[in-house]
Amino acid sequence: MIEDNDLYPTTFHSANTLEEAGELFNRLDNASFLSGGHTLLPTMKQGLASPLHLIDLTRITEMVGIALEGDVLVIGAATRHMSVAFSALVQKTIPALAALAGSIGDRQVRFRGTLGGSVANNDPAADYPAALLGLGATVVTNRRSMKAQEYFVGLFQTALGSGEFITQVRFPVPRDAGYAKFRGAAARYSVVGVWVTQGGADVRVAVTGAGDQGVFRHEGLEAALEQDFCAGSLESVVVQHEGLLSDLNASAPYRANLIKVLCRHAVHHMGGIFSLK
Ligand SMILES: Cc1cc2nc3c(=O)[nH]c(=O)nc-3n(C[C@H](O)[C@H](O)[C@H](O)COP(=O)(O)OP(=O)(O)OC[C@H]3O[C@@H](n4cnc5c(N)ncnc54)[C@H](O)[C@@H]3O)c2cc1C
Repeated sequence: MIEDNDLYPTTFHSANTLEEAGELFNRLDNASFLSGGHTLLPTMKQGLASPLHLIDLTRITEMVGIALEGDVLVIGAATRHMSVAFSALVQKTIPALAALAGSIGDRQVRFRGTLGGSVANNDPAADYPAALLGLGATVVTNRRSMKAQEYFVGLFQTALGSGEFITQVRFPVPRDAGYAKFRGAAARYSVVGVWVTQGGADVRVAVTGAGDQGVFRHEGLEAALEQDFCAGSLESVVVQHEGLLSDLNASAPYRANLIKVLCRHAVHHMGGIFSLK
């Protein structure tokens, strides 16, 4: 039996193929998938998770890399944040996504953390979930494909089943997109982050860092921008604070105000990022 703060043996396994990762998970008792380790390892150190086996996904070649397939940008789940940030292809097709990846944490986090790890963890303050929901991305796993709106279920909750892991995320290339983020002072997660996609008549506004059920779309802001795609059209929209998080970083009313302010900044910075702090 593992007591809090006790050291205990954990065995590291490196999977080379998707099949091997699935087989290892099925065969081993109390196993966890491991990507960048920037969330899982601190969680283990705090005694909040205690897997006996870690299955590293980052050596599976199909899970690493970035490609354009028609008008869909496909990013392998084990691709690191810095690879997305520096990719000429991402910078050309969805520049705001490259900028978002470049805004995550610090260099150490960007050089180890992965798209799949972030999306699997679904921290309510993580940046990628806003881009996935805002772009209508598809999450591909070793078993199936899911639209982002089906995939994100709640705080730290996703539709992933036991033994299921993300292999890639498919982002439709939009006409334009922008992201605005109010960074937390310590780890630089989003206190609030707002992603705006302009896809012709259709506008999507996805908010991270604020919802008490995690990332969500704001219909009022979307409707106003569909009428007239300019920051001024947001003035009359009321953002309610019910259903928003209140914590040491910000109260729910403060977050409600930030959502509107950041949406305005995102519209002003289409094709890039606006970062407060
Ligand atoms: C100091 C610090 C600052 C940070 N700042 C930010 C920030 O500003 N914005 C932001 O968005 N994030 C931030 N993060 C989080 C960072 O992006 C992490 O890299 C990310 O949350 C987890 O990715 P990972 O690859 O490290 O996953 P891991 O820690 O390896 O895994 C996290 C969880 O996901 C599971 N998992 C991993 N890969 C997969 C997969 N492919 N399929 C299914 N399950 C999988 C693991 O089993 C584990 O439960 C920060 C982290 C730190 C430590």
